[in-house]
Amino acid sequence: MAETQPLRVLVLGATGLTGGKVVNGLLERSEVAEVVAPVRRPTGVDHPKLTQPVVDFDDLAAHSELFDVNVIVCCLGTTIKKAGSQEQFRKVDFGYSLKAAGLGRSAGARAFILMSAVGASANSKIFYNRVKGELEDAVRELGYPYLSIYHPGLLLGQRQEHRTAEALGIKVMPLVNRALLGPLVQYRGIEAATVARAMVNEVCGLATTADPVVGRQVWTYPEICRLAGDE
Ligand code: NDP
Repeated sequence: MAETQPLRVLVLGATGLTGGKVVNGLLERSEVAEVVAPVRRPTGVDHPKLTQPVVDFDDLAAHSELFDVNVIVCCLGTTIKKAGSQEQFRKVDFGYSLKAAGLGRSAGARAFILMSAVGASANSKIFYNRVKGELEDAVRELGYPYLSIYHPGLLLGQRQEHRTAEALGIKVMPLVNRALLGPLVQYRGIEAATVARAMVNEVCGLATTADPVVGRQVWTYPEICRLAGDE
């Protein structure tokens, strides 16, 4: 039987819709020894395996010791509306995520799981998709032995805050999803819980030391559902 190595996992965006579910999922798994969740406000979760240091995201390098982990899961992100400008959005979604990825690589993390978005491309005419694509390219350059990039469509799930456009999308998504077939399947709305379950399963799969931790892939709707165990 393959041996397992208990994992130390760092989660960015732990107070968010997806990141919160990733943290909760990881805490339940025996493959995970420790979850580190740098935050700007505590998650509200209390668990012996969880540490949640409050950090200054403008100076992540001051917290470099936190990044000495096996795996990093990045579910960090804002919206252009919340950030207040495209520049501020870029600072968070691109700047903070890339800085964290770099600190992890320098500290010896071997695997990075990045929550991006369907349509992400550095060549996209849509600003949001372009920033996501540029982030993906920049993270690829860091040379993580194992890199998975998630491309979900609209995230479904209960948020504390109200997002008008998203709320509308979520209402019509069950109908729209049924019409999205073939290559359009990737644009289906997906439960944040499903994405989180996929990430947790993927992370825990890395605990088996018999397999070398290598691989680079982009997961879209069908693969995310498969990883989540939904088929
Ligand atoms: P949420 O918006 O629910 O959570 C975002 C997380 O990022 C929170 O932990 C939040 O912390 C943190 N964050 C935001 N701004 C800052 C900041 N300035 N400094 C520090 N931390 C910050 O995320 P979702 O689960 O909705 O999305 C996760 C990722 O998936 C994002 O990158 C998003 O772009 C992407 N995505 C989203 C889709 C959607 O339909 N919403 C679709 C496809 C991809 P705090 O709680 O302190 O604000």
